[in-house]
Amino acid sequence: MKLLGIHHITAIATDPQRNLDFYTQVLGLRLVKRTINFDDPSTYHLYFGDRTGKPGTVITFFPWPRARRGTRGTGQVIATSFAVPAQSIGYWNERLKKEGVIVEEKSRRFDEEVVRLVDPDGLLLELIACAHLDDVDLNFEIAVPGEFAIRGFHAPTLEVQRAKSMEQLLTTFGFHLIAEEGSRRRFASNERSTSARVDVVERSNGQFGNIAAGTVHHIAFRAANDEEQLQWRKQLVDLGFGPTPVIDRQYFRSIYFREPNGILFEIATDGPGFAIDEPVDQLGGSLKLPKRFEPERKSIEQVLPPIELRRQADR
Ligand code: ZN
Repeated sequence: MKLLGIHHITAIATDPQRNLDFYTQVLGLRLVKRTINFDDPSTYHLYFGDRTGKPGTVITFFPWPRARRGTRGTGQVIATSFAVPAQSIGYWNERLKKEGVIVEEKSRRFDEEVVRLVDPDGLLLELIACAHLDDVDLNFEIAVPGEFAIRGFHAPTLEVQRAKSMEQLLTTFGFHLIAEEGSRRRFASNERSTSARVDVVERSNGQFGNIAAGTVHHIAFRAANDEEQLQWRKQLVDLGFGPTPVIDRQYFRSIYFREPNGILFEIATDGPGFAIDEPVDQLGGSLKLPKRFEPERKSIEQVLPPIELRRQADR
């Protein structure tokens, strides 16, 4: 039994419209779900991914308009990375600069080209050019030509004070070391998939980050199904972690726990997926609520700031 890779990464934003515009119109992802934070129904939960929101492609946000800016640091996912086709870095560099995005000079990592940029809330993102890409569905009204489009996650960077405890946990999850460069060690649970990799960087005296706007809230890994999720939960209990009970997140089921360095981990099921409450061609088009929140829809909609999915043609 292995975790199949990254399921989704969730970060904190401020202005939901700005967040929506950036991830759809600048990065070319699809809004695959417009819902609320089930633990805080006065806040949106926005999901972006490929056409269907396949696990391994999905970045999600809690936009809290009044959230203060967080700080990156140890005990966090400090960089969220996406795979892009080889030869596309020049395109992205130009595109991002034209959009006024803060972009670093391109660099190399494990022999692949990397562009680092920050989103409008200061979240650090990377585009990594890769010869072998995951199979994702780009058949939607996409703002970026398909030949350059994002193809799901690449290895995010997990910065920790003690790499050993993290690496033991990753090994339990079926990951193994595939490459090493300086203080960066890359682990994979499936070497053929860019979204089944994570990079661990140890900074034993690193400052802990402060999780607020512009930082990652948690990273979720893929359990194949409910049975395996329960087995993972039992193993975590046996190892002394305190995982939550299984929580129904409508589009998947989840357990959460903190790994020894403080990063919030989630293990989520692949199913049932985002088409459970609206057809695939209408994903993200309107506010979806789980049944238990439907009686409160009116008051929820009054509190949420209005947002609008802009089309490329409107720009
Ligand atoms: Zn999550």
